[in-house]
Amino acid sequence: MSIVDRIKREEGKIGIISHFDPDGDAIGSVLGMYNFLKKYKPNVEAVLKDDIPYLFQFLPGVEEIKKTPSNYYDLLLLLDVSDITRTGFDNLNFGTLARIDHHKTGTNYGDFDYINETAPSTTALIVDILKEYDEEGITKEVAEPLYAGLLTDTGGFKYGRDFKKSFETALYLSGKGIDCQEIAQKIFLRKRLEVFKLLSLALNTLTVVEDKIAYIVLRKEFFEMTGTDSQDAQSFVTYPLSVDDVAVGIKFTEADDNFWKVSLRGKNRVDLAAIAEEFGGGGHINAAGLRMKGDEETVINTVVSRILKEFE
Ligand code: 5GP
Ligand code: MN
Repeated sequence: MSIVDRIKREEGKIGIISHFDPDGDAIGSVLGMYNFLKKYKPNVEAVLKDDIPYLFQFLPGVEEIKKTPSNYYDLLLLLDVSDITRTGFDNLNFGTLARIDHHKTGTNYGDFDYINETAPSTTALIVDILKEYDEEGITKEVAEPLYAGLLTDTGGFKYGRDFKKSFETALYLSGKGIDCQEIAQKIFLRKRLEVFKLLSLALNTLTVVEDKIAYIVLRKEFFEMTGTDSQDAQSFVTYPLSVDDVAVGIKFTEADDNFWKVSLRGKNRVDLAAIAEEFGGGGHINAAGLRMKGDEETVINTVVSRILKEFE
């Protein structure tokens, strides 16, 4: 049975959940699926552990996303989540679990998983699923978050392994009454001034290693000094990646004392998902992440020296 038939058959409670620290694809996937399914299913809910970043709060249905899951779901849909632990919830109970995702790394949960690692975004996979379910149901409120996920995960159509799929999906969604210009403007051209102060501090740390790797460091005190948080810095990894000749860009974010979140971005030279996995993280070839304990110097040295090995 296909994932579409499985969802259609479900008469009980359906949960739609994505990962903690949600990005555009996580939020877009959850809202696209939720705004669609609520017209067909009386008992469906969307849940995300963390707050929705300011930039995505304009998306339709965002106020209906819950912060705590129900006790039980007959069918639980994990969207853009490589492993259930990345939901941030440790008490999820369900009858059937299905993962709809485009991550290279992760856990398989069974027959209903719908995973394609070449897809530009999880929302692109959801478009295919919803087209098969009922094209009539893909209204503006469904298409808008799905387009937002595609736009952000491709970095505004700069990254991806299957550009044909990106453009076909964008073309399809653009015919559903959405305003592509307005969505791009709301997501990319609406930064608070504080975010630029944070960026300025971050760029002061920019370091280039052997013309191959560049990194920035976001220390906890930077967020305190500027009244920002790590969500405001979601896209900053683009700066080290943008340095000419550099093949890998890294962002080290101090999440807590001696606890770092590491974002890796590449230009098709190194399989960053594989490296992230070695440290317990995961992701895609050109966009991956991991978490690491240790002081700043040790964490930076560990990650940078591991990636440098790829160039030996
Ligand atoms: P980001 O650097 O934007 O946080 O994440 C880049 C990509 O790597 C995303 O697709 C994200 O899901 C994945 N990723 C980031 N951190 C982790 C992690 O700690 N574990 C796993 N499995 N994937 C991660
Ligand atoms: Mn994604």
